[in-house]
Amino acid sequence: MQVNNSLAGLTYHVKTFGCQMNLHDAERVSGLLGTCGCLEVATPEEADIVVFMTCCVREKADTHLYGQVSAMVSAPEPPSGRRVVCIGGCIAQRDGASIREHMRNVDVVFGTRAISSLPELIDEARSGNGKTVFADTSEDSQGFSSDLPSRRENAWHAWVPIMTGCNNFCSYCIVPYVRGRERDRAFDDIVDEVRRLHAEGVREVCLLGQNVNSFGRQRYGSPRFAELLRAVGETGIERIRFTSSHPKDLSPATIAAMAETPAVMPQLHLAVQSGSTRVLKAMNRRYTREDYIALANSIKEAIPDIALSTDIIVGFPGETEEDFEQTLSLVREVGFASAFTFIYSKRPGTPAAKIDDPTPREVIQERFDRLAALVADLAHDANQVELGRTVEALVEGASKRDERVLVGHSPKNKTVHFEAPEGCDPHELVGKLVDVRVDEARTWYLRGPMVGEPR
Ligand code: SF4
Repeated sequence: MQVNNSLAGLTYHVKTFGCQMNLHDAERVSGLLGTCGCLEVATPEEADIVVFMTCCVREKADTHLYGQVSAMVSAPEPPSGRRVVCIGGCIAQRDGASIREHMRNVDVVFGTRAISSLPELIDEARSGNGKTVFADTSEDSQGFSSDLPSRRENAWHAWVPIMTGCNNFCSYCIVPYVRGRERDRAFDDIVDEVRRLHAEGVREVCLLGQNVNSFGRQRYGSPRFAELLRAVGETGIERIRFTSSHPKDLSPATIAAMAETPAVMPQLHLAVQSGSTRVLKAMNRRYTREDYIALANSIKEAIPDIALSTDIIVGFPGETEEDFEQTLSLVREVGFASAFTFIYSKRPGTPAAKIDDPTPREVIQERFDRLAALVADLAHDANQVELGRTVEALVEGASKRDERVLVGHSPKNKTVHFEAPEGCDPHELVGKLVDVRVDEARTWYLRGPMVGEPR
């Protein structure tokens, strides 16, 4: 990687919207600018370089972005007297140079495959004539952001991308259009990165990709995700998570690798989207309700204490009350520990966006509320199982409400709250693994005293 010294001494701020892949890309942007000698600042107002990492999967992220970029127009001048506003990520990839039509103060637009060019683009914008600089984002432009330096948000957790893009073309999803087709990172590079992270003191990694279960298909001709889990498990890293998993690609070999690799956490996020086979077909998900239930049962058989979570879309065009009832019954039958629920929103450019739906908004909202209530009931029930148990938590920081209360996540990815013991500096516990005896199990968190020594 070539270091661009002309940016040395400038301040920067990176703002991220959307998914984990974006969080990871933001860490790479920070690492890259840090390598060029730029200094990170806490707010966009103080920064010479402001980078917005965007997401077009959810509507809110879109709306949020426009508001925040516009706010930059009235922000005071930065230390260098010239602020460069950059937009990266999925919206940049989707809308390209036309972003300038909506946001006149944008200097640089760079797509999902152009992160490595950012320092040069900023340089060009700073010395240019006020025109937006737009990075080539074609399929074969420079690729995997993981080969770039990274400035992680914290020292104990790391996102590790293993593949990017998606070949699935679910009918509501924009990802294959903005992130492109699946591309795998080299197997050995991933394992080496995790080994290095472990040596640096990272406790937990999350293997990232739009469809991790098909890792290997593009580069090696057949999926190698199960093998990768086992190899990563041998690096000594203490906790392994991964996301996202497509049910149609989750193989028996991967389930076996999860069950037999102690560092793989007993938690799986497996998006179902709907419990109706008719709707799943319209979504182009390529599994049926029965397939999903059978898969969930086989996972529970192999890993009995696993916490399954999911994504569900309510109000997909044409969803009937009967379809929705099927979703409720699937959610009950599988017994998810948690679920992200969304009301369907059109993503322009996708096949589903062309389908008109006469279902009134109030009907969809009422279905959404019923589903949310069921999900909360199931989450509450799932947490009661933890009462009286001692769970291990990786400590992430203090609660926003009370700085003596620390927050971490258990192996099943449940939020755990506990008070720092008398005489113990709460900050010293951050990044440590602690045991917490659960004596309170609420819907969205577990709580209890810390027992034993942190490690
Ligand atoms: S699997 Fe479907 S929902 Fe997930 S990224 Fe690919 S197209 Fe989108």
